[in-house]
Amino acid sequence: MVVRTQVGIIGAGPAGLLLSHLLHLEGIESVIVEARSRDYVEHRVRAGVLEHGPVQLLKRAGVGERLVREGLEHHGIELRFGGRGHRIDFPSLTGGRSITVYGQQEVVKDLIQARLDAGGTIEFEAVDVGIDDVDSATPRVHWHKDDVPQVLACDIVAGCDGFHGICRPSIPGFERAVFERTYPFAWLGILAKAAPSRDELIYANHERGFALYAMRSPKITRLYLQVPPEEDIANWPDDRIWQELHTRLEIDDGWKLNEGPVLEKGITPMRSYVCERMQHGQLYLAGDAAHIVPPTGAKGMNLAIADVYVLSRALAAFFKSGNRDALAAYSQTCLARVWRAEHFSWWMTSMLHRFPGDDGFQQRLQRSQLDYTVASSAAAASLAENYVGLPLE
Ligand SMILES: Cc1cc2nc3c(=O)[nH]c(=O)nc-3n(C[C@H](O)[C@H](O)[C@H](O)COP(=O)(O)OP(=O)(O)OC[C@H]3O[C@@H](n4cnc5c(N)ncnc54)[C@H](O)[C@@H]3O)c2cc1C
Repeated sequence: MVVRTQVGIIGAGPAGLLLSHLLHLEGIESVIVEARSRDYVEHRVRAGVLEHGPVQLLKRAGVGERLVREGLEHHGIELRFGGRGHRIDFPSLTGGRSITVYGQQEVVKDLIQARLDAGGTIEFEAVDVGIDDVDSATPRVHWHKDDVPQVLACDIVAGCDGFHGICRPSIPGFERAVFERTYPFAWLGILAKAAPSRDELIYANHERGFALYAMRSPKITRLYLQVPPEEDIANWPDDRIWQELHTRLEIDDGWKLNEGPVLEKGITPMRSYVCERMQHGQLYLAGDAAHIVPPTGAKGMNLAIADVYVLSRALAAFFKSGNRDALAAYSQTCLARVWRAEHFSWWMTSMLHRFPGDDGFQQRLQRSQLDYTVASSAAAASLAENYVGLPLE
């Protein structure tokens, strides 16, 4: 069966769902094809920090009601090193901007609900998804549903299928330049049923390795530890995780880390990756399909949102007046922001982690940079400006 739409979107993560919603607001039809079930994507715990611009965009687009009600607005972060905490105040350094802690899975739930309420189509549990003829004016997306072949004929295909998806490899190798760094460590993350014991995120540089203290709600804490890249989660029973968190987050002001049952744990590799360009024929990549960052700068979901904002506006211009200028500039427009986020994420990662084999040189550079960042308002402003994110416009 062949169904026709204007934009075929592959992937129902933040990028694909928000793109579909923004296109709907512009009167443009789309269909989302997703490999996983609705339940799976709505409960996949990943990022949780929204920059200022994406929060404003979600509110403007009418999908920010629960975000405003349940999201936790933060006005700063703490850098913790040498047994002391140093707060970076966002509003005073960035002209009043802030970030909001709101789980990625909550953004996904809100967007799925909005699409379904508006009569949108999301094909969950699609098997063997593929794309054909992206070089032509009539590209197609195909998949199987309950063993029955399905085909979507469209004008444009949006590849929003994450880092391991099928869209990026569809761009011929000679058109794709890849820039990549793999870090010699990973993050062990836990989600714990424990009330946050601090209102803001804590980034700790400790001689035993990096630790991040974060939260997802007034009852749930999210915590991370730097571990070796090939670490086996079986080596980390809950007691060991808590002990290590206490050690790395220790401070001399009487602050205490709340413990609670561990609801989820996993290990995430750390990598920087950019595919240039982000477009081929009628195929446009967005979000993790085109680039990933180490999570230290909290940029992954925000970049995905920024990409689809640019793409939705370019597609609106194309479908309303046939003007392809913004579509032609899509890669270039997005990559400027992507590389800023790549640099910031690499910089935060380099400043905060222990590097295997370091003879003390890097550690001293880190300490110097940390001291400077908390002592100089210009250095603190640079961190704050990047953390709250550059304006989307
Ligand atoms: C394990 C993990 C942990 C992370 N943790 C953090 C964190 O703690 N902090 C942080 O800031 N960032 C984190 N990130 C990064 C952040 O979550 C991503 O940047 C964000 O999800 C990007 O959104 P996206 O829509 O581009 O991609 P995704 O969210 O990956 O969505 C892609 C969608 O495409 C679907 N898909 C894949 N292949 C196909 C196919 N062939 N056909 C159809 N559908 C397909 C997937 O099921 C998925 O629903 C994490 C990422 C991962 C992978």
